[in-house]
Amino acid sequence: MTQKELKDLWKAALGEIQLNISKANFLTWFRNTSLIDLKGDTIFLGVPSNFAKEWLENKYQKIILQSLNHLNPQIIKIEYLVSEGNPDLDKIQTTQQARLAKKPNLEATEEQLNFPEFAIDPETNLNPRYTFENFIVGSNNELAHAAALAVTENLGSKYNPLFIYGGVGLGKTHLLQAVGNKVKKENKKLKIKYASSEKFTDELVKAIGKQSMDSFKASFRNVDLLLIDDIQFIAGKDKTQEELFHTFNNLYEKNKQIIFTSDRPPKAIPSIEERLRSRFEGGMIADIGYPDFETRLAILKAKTQNSNVFIDEKILRYLAEAIPKNIRELEGALNRIIAHTRLKNAPLTLDEAKNVLAAIITNTHQYLPLKDVISKVASFYDLSEEELLNHSRKKELVKPRQVAMYLLREELKYSYTNIAEKLGNRDHTTVIHACKKIEQELTNNPVFSQEITLLKEMLYNQ
Ligand code: ADP
Ligand code: MG
Repeated sequence: MTQKELKDLWKAALGEIQLNISKANFLTWFRNTSLIDLKGDTIFLGVPSNFAKEWLENKYQKIILQSLNHLNPQIIKIEYLVSEGNPDLDKIQTTQQARLAKKPNLEATEEQLNFPEFAIDPETNLNPRYTFENFIVGSNNELAHAAALAVTENLGSKYNPLFIYGGVGLGKTHLLQAVGNKVKKENKKLKIKYASSEKFTDELVKAIGKQSMDSFKASFRNVDLLLIDDIQFIAGKDKTQEELFHTFNNLYEKNKQIIFTSDRPPKAIPSIEERLRSRFEGGMIADIGYPDFETRLAILKAKTQNSNVFIDEKILRYLAEAIPKNIRELEGALNRIIAHTRLKNAPLTLDEAKNVLAAIITNTHQYLPLKDVISKVASFYDLSEEELLNHSRKKELVKPRQVAMYLLREELKYSYTNIAEKLGNRDHTTVIHACKKIEQELTNNPVFSQEITLLKEMLYNQ
């Protein structure tokens, strides 16, 4: 086939593909694609980045193949070739050359696929991505960091309990789990348990229901290190507080280490029993504040290095300037830049980066109607709104539906019951479960996190 014939064939196929998927997806995923060669039954499709390759392969393979096969029945297989940096694949004349061009990226793909599986350890509940090695120390968290590190070396004897508090997205969970991961790594025999205070309550409620209090008690008391995250949520929960008090005393008497985190100091947690408050205050209290500019920049640089993507220092400075009070948001913005760099397969300019970030930096409070969320999520996943709202349990429908629930909760701050009602009259516990599931996957699966980043972008931009 000549280059001209390949071009015409692709044009015709794109015409057909366009009819089958949403415009936004078409523009996003088929931009800068071209046919490079036909050999036997295999068509070689050039794509601009590994990221695009993964998407096309996972989501559009069938449509692409169908439309090509329709036009030329000889075609029954697709191979994707990633062009490096240069989307102008017309320049690549032969498959041979394309294969050469593909090589370095093939390695990158493997690397991407080999993202360390941030599998949560079922025994400890620890996520291995949170380590001391990747925790950047600045003046805002110096004390908390030093105390946490000291605890790993003097388990149960130096600061017990350690109580770490600070605002949302400032690194409390990271530090707490870093202690667990380090202790586990250095001594596999030690028993460690990480739980949010909500999880503690959940398990307690279940244990009461199933009359299995003994095993509940054992699971929190037969440990060398107990890590309880977001303790502020025990406010007003009497039974939880009582059980926690006894758990605490039991561990403390055995010189077992306990660490709590909270979004506020013990004094500021409303409705907790005095005896518990005084336990919290009985060891070491360390706070985490807002990071200064240098720390924010250092965090961004470290995370950029891990991503294997080049990002201009100017962009990092711009980001660090724009998002001063929340490291999670800072990371979210950086992920967006990384996703776009992968899509473009070339470094972004500062202006492009500003464009990409415009949606989050200026529009965080932009009004976004509910029906838009539903229709855009449906279109993003190439489903009809009806499919998104119905009660089918097909895997390809369940996930998008959960994503829609999560976005309504996160972006529009809808209540669980409201979401349940709006998304086809379900039980509100289904919504709670969905939001948790998506949050979990966001922490564990970087590719999924990029997907949601792009989806949010489409929500606000189009
Ligand atoms: P919190 O529990 O205080 O709400 P997290 O511990 O979940 O915050 O932190 C939010 C995100 O920011 C996490 O992805 C975490 O890895 C990252 N982060 C926070 N502080 C730091 C730091 N000092 N160095 C590197 N990453 C950090
Ligand atoms: Mg946290």
